[in-house]
Parts: sequence; structure tokens; C-alpha cells
Amino acid sequence: VSWPVGHEALVEAFRGVVAGERLAHAYLFAGPVGVGKRAFARTLGKLLLCEGQAKDFQPCGRCPACLQVDAETHPDFHVARAPEDAHEFPVELMKEFIGQLALKPARGRYRIAILEDADMLNDESANAFLKTLEEPPPRSLLILVATSVEHQLPTIRSRCQLVRFPPLPAKVLAEALLAEGLVKSREQALRLAEQCEGSLESARQLADAKLQEFRRKLLDALAAPRPDSARLGMELVKCVEEAGKESAGQRQRAQLLIRFVTEFLRSCLLLGEGAAVRWADPADERSARQLTQRADADTLLQAIERCLEAEAHVERRVQLVLALEALVDAVTATLSSRPAPA
Ligand SMILES: [Zn+2]
Repeated sequence: VSWPVGHEALVEAFRGVVAGERLAHAYLFAGPVGVGKRAFARTLGKLLLCEGQAKDFQPCGRCPACLQVDAETHPDFHVARAPEDAHEFPVELMKEFIGQLALKPARGRYRIAILEDADMLNDESANAFLKTLEEPPPRSLLILVATSVEHQLPTIRSRCQLVRFPPLPAKVLAEALLAEGLVKSREQALRLAEQCEGSLESARQLADAKLQEFRRKLLDALAAPRPDSARLGMELVKCVEEAGKESAGQRQRAQLLIRFVTEFLRSCLLLGEGAAVRWADPADERSARQLTQRADADTLLQAIERCLEAEAHVERRVQLVLALEALVDAVTATLSSRPAPA
């Protein structure tokens, strides 16, 4: 099966559109990170270019065209992504992309162009793109991939047909983790799936035993009476760098780690108020009891706020090392400060 899991309704919708030859010239695929937008775009492109026996709305996966799409060498299939560590989509790259699109299809019936990182278009590259988007070359299909519709310039948004990719249900994620052999049991799969806000990519990362180990270390360290913030900051950065060289992967890992801390602090807050808490891991409760002895609700709320700030920084592509070190500094300082005597 080539289509990413969990989007059967969208697959059906596109099946109808393709069968009725009603494909739009430009689509904006929008949805959270790691739900399968890029994979969906590639599969659609592959299907439209497939020269073999495409069956049941699946590309054959074996013909020269399918293999070339996989290798990104098909003359009618273009993917543009921002360079690693770039903060914006460079206009030079956009011009190159537009140039490729202006050509007639070389082999296939379509010329397909996928613009990943549409979130990163700046005014200059977006403006360069507008004319192509307004008058796309015949038999071309443009797919822009973005995490948020709101981030897109109105001029871009209004020229694309919007396709929203919802977060994946925990059950679908759990099935995928099991199918990929990343977890040992259904119970473990569900437990992880519930922690990752509908993102398969996060679920895959969560299933990583080393990351779980680091999560434990991080939460225990924050709960300890005098956390060593310099060391913890360094370890956090190291863990993020282990996610690979690509900055998107590192950002995602950073978001996940920040979310671990936020969720843990929220559980502490509930515990302090005597509310029932569903612990993601039984060991969390022990750390939480330790932390709530010295941190009151105000302190915890302040620390949560620091986490949300850090999350926003990571999203805005502030340098990761700076954002993470600042987070650890702020959270440990907040949690270590003595509440004012009543
Ligand atoms: Zn094929």
C-alpha cells in the first residue's frame, strides 16, 4: 500500500476527482507535522505518472516512472524543499523551480511539482511564485505542503484548493507502530500513540527506546531538588542533535521533548490540586510527588509558560541550541525558586 495511513477519506476524494478529470491546478496540503502530507503528495504524483498497471488507485511501484519518482529523477516530477538550516525559502531556488515547471511534460501526461516547506516562503519567493500559481502551465499539478493555513500569504492561499490533513487518531497510530514493528505490544503502542498529538512521525520517535530513556532522565532531573541546569541543557541539545542532521527532524525532536516537560508539569499541577492523573509512565508519578513538595501551583504555571514560549521559539525557527538552553535555564530557575513565605 502506497498511501500514508489514516487518510482513507482523502484518498477516496481524490479517486473521484481523478476519475472525473477534475484535478485542480494547485492544492495546498495543510496539517500538523508528521501526519503524511508529503507522502500523500508523492503518492498522488506517482499515481498520475505511473506507466504500469495502476490498480485500485495505487501506483504500480515497479514501472520505470514509479521508480524514477521514488528516486526523484523523473523528468516530470519536481520536489522543491528549502535547504537545511535555511530560515526562509530562497528566491533563487524558487526561480529554478518555476523554470522547470514552465517546460512541457517530457514523458508523462502531467508535470507534477511539490513545494515542501511552503511555510517558509518569504514575500520575495512567494511573489516570484504567484504568476505560476495564477496561470499554471497546462497539464501541471502543483502541490504546496504546509503546516498551517494561517501562515500562508492570502495571495497564495486564495489560488490553491485547500486540503486539510487532520491529526491521526491514536488507534491508527498504534496500528501503524505495531505494523512497523516498532513496539512490543498493543498496550505499549496505544500508550505511545496517546502522547503524540496525532503525528505518526512523533509516534515513531517516541517508540525509540533511547528517547524514552532520555525522557525519564529529563523529568527526574527537573524533579530533583537542585537540577544542574548547565548539564541538563547540554544533554537536551545532544538528544536533539541525535535526531539527525536535518533541521526539520531536530525541530520535531525538540518539540517532542518540550512537550514531555509541559505534560509532566501539567500532571504535577493536577496532582497538587488533588485531581486524578493518568500517568503516561508510572515512574512519572514518583517524580511528580517529589516536585510538588517544593513547587506550588503558581510556580508550576510559570514553568509551563516558559515551555510554551520555547515551543513558539522552536516553531519560529529560533536557533535550537539557544532556545533549548534558555528553556532549561528558565524552567530550572523557576522550579528552584523558593515560594515567598506566607
Ligand atoms: Zn508505476
